[in-house]
Amino acid sequence: MDDSAETVRIGVLAFRGAETTVSEWSPMLDRLSRSRADRRFELLKLDHDGLRSAVADRRVDFVITNPGHYVELEAEFGISRILTLAGSSTVSPDQAIGSAVVVRRDRTDLQSLEDLRGKSLAIVGREGFGGFQIVWGELSSRGIDPDRDLSALRSVGLPMDGVLDAVERADVDAGVVRACLLESMGSRSANFRVLSPQTPSAFPCTTSTRLYPDWPMAALRHTSPALAREVAIALLSATEGTGPGWSVPADYQSVHELFRTLEIGPYTYLREPTLTDLAERYWPWLLGVLALMASGALYTVHVEHLVHKRTAALRAALAERETLEAGIRAAQEQADHLSRLSMLGELSGTLAHELNQPLATIGNYAASLSRRVDNGRLDDDAVRQATHEITCEAERAAAILSRIRAFARKRTAKRERFRPAQVAAEAIALFRGMLAQAPRVELIDHLAEDRTVEADPLQIQQVLLNLLKNAYDASRDQPAERRALQLGMTAVADGICLWVRDNGPGLDEAARRHLFEPFFTTKPDGLGLGLSICKTIAEAHGGRLTATPPETGPGMIFTLTLPDHA
Ligand code: ADP
Repeated sequence: MDDSAETVRIGVLAFRGAETTVSEWSPMLDRLSRSRADRRFELLKLDHDGLRSAVADRRVDFVITNPGHYVELEAEFGISRILTLAGSSTVSPDQAIGSAVVVRRDRTDLQSLEDLRGKSLAIVGREGFGGFQIVWGELSSRGIDPDRDLSALRSVGLPMDGVLDAVERADVDAGVVRACLLESMGSRSANFRVLSPQTPSAFPCTTSTRLYPDWPMAALRHTSPALAREVAIALLSATEGTGPGWSVPADYQSVHELFRTLEIGPYTYLREPTLTDLAERYWPWLLGVLALMASGALYTVHVEHLVHKRTAALRAALAERETLEAGIRAAQEQADHLSRLSMLGELSGTLAHELNQPLATIGNYAASLSRRVDNGRLDDDAVRQATHEITCEAERAAAILSRIRAFARKRTAKRERFRPAQVAAEAIALFRGMLAQAPRVELIDHLAEDRTVEADPLQIQQVLLNLLKNAYDASRDQPAERRALQLGMTAVADGICLWVRDNGPGLDEAARRHLFEPFFTTKPDGLGLGLSICKTIAEAHGGRLTATPPETGPGMIFTLTLPDHA
């Protein structure tokens, strides 16, 4: 044979072992080689998967396989049948393959396919057509699901004789073999019996199932049509004795129907996955998801526990803070009160003098009245004038006392809307009322007449009074013309400022830095608390207190800035 000859490869499903296959098919190969001297024909004996991958990789040009496998390869790789085996003249190629379910002859308890429920069954493999799939179709038409209703489905693999061995050894209750295998075995067949036996007309063997077309030979997509025709013609014209006979391709519709019923091969897509199927297929994933969910749940519980714990801790901390704040507020109010009392203390040395004046006037008028009574010179006019003066002086004394009482009262802070001008006027009155020789205080009001702020009027008054007193202290030793003070009111963005200016010696930079610190004082009898309390009051209102030297002239300007809304 010419070495350059083109090699044509035929893949064959080895169904009774490789050696048997060679002896079965070699006459056919010889026949084909003889028909074309320029081609060399080669046989590849493969199992199901081997044959499938040979087709996928185009390592073969033709395929000879069982009808079920053919239907699968046809759907997947587009192979097309060109011939169907015609095994013997007595069998029609359309009705050539059936399966026999065999049991040991002594198993009288097993007669029909229905008796297989709960029994074990040996098969070649799930891909076996005559070796399993045909029987699967029969069982399923009787409502038996091999996976669910048999006690075991055992694959013993090729060759098929292994199934008979398993049945004979009683490893299994029954086994599936291709019909006619038993008949070809001679005396050994006497050990077995076929379940639900049928002997269809024009079929020489006993079968448990209906019959399907014989094995096809198919050309692959890449195989040239000319080569396919040549091979078909060579095999169709073969005479007896030159290998298996071939006929024109049979109709494989019945195989398609079987596969559609079983939802396998090209019809696998029909198999709607049930929840159990999914669970079976994806159980590792499901397990993973469940584990994730479980750890998620545990984590959530853990986090909730932590949140609970932290919330409780936070609540306790807040409660503690509130208690502390309440304490600080109380201390602040007390310091406020003390500061007012201390201011009064400082100023009240002169208070006695201030009250002395109206009391002395009242005393004088009373004495003058009694003198006139004694002299007999008491007339109506004198009585009217004396009582009028007495009333006026008594009112003046009462007003001084009531302002001091109001100022010295212990109270809690509050917020109300009021006119700053009024509070400033009251502060000046209180300041002047408490001093024997009060300096002049000029009120410079740049605010609109109806301008109001929201604050605690008494606290603002306290600040102003403190600033006036400090200004007075700073300038009391100055010549008379520098003792006058100024209290001003100016509008600023979103609020107002109230300022007090004196013409005293002022403060240097270093002193200004410590001015608002508690206990900073330069006075021998000073407490050094006034300005620090004033600053706290300003800040509690959302405002501030600053000390600056005036742009021109001596002294200091203390400015209290207040927002419209505290
Ligand atoms: P005290 O009046 O008890 O000393 P303050 O806090 O009211 O406490 O004042 C602290 C210090 O600030 C005063 O001792 C004084 O030295 C200084 N001071 C306050 N106001 C003025 C001012 N107008 N001019 C100069 N020094 C001032």
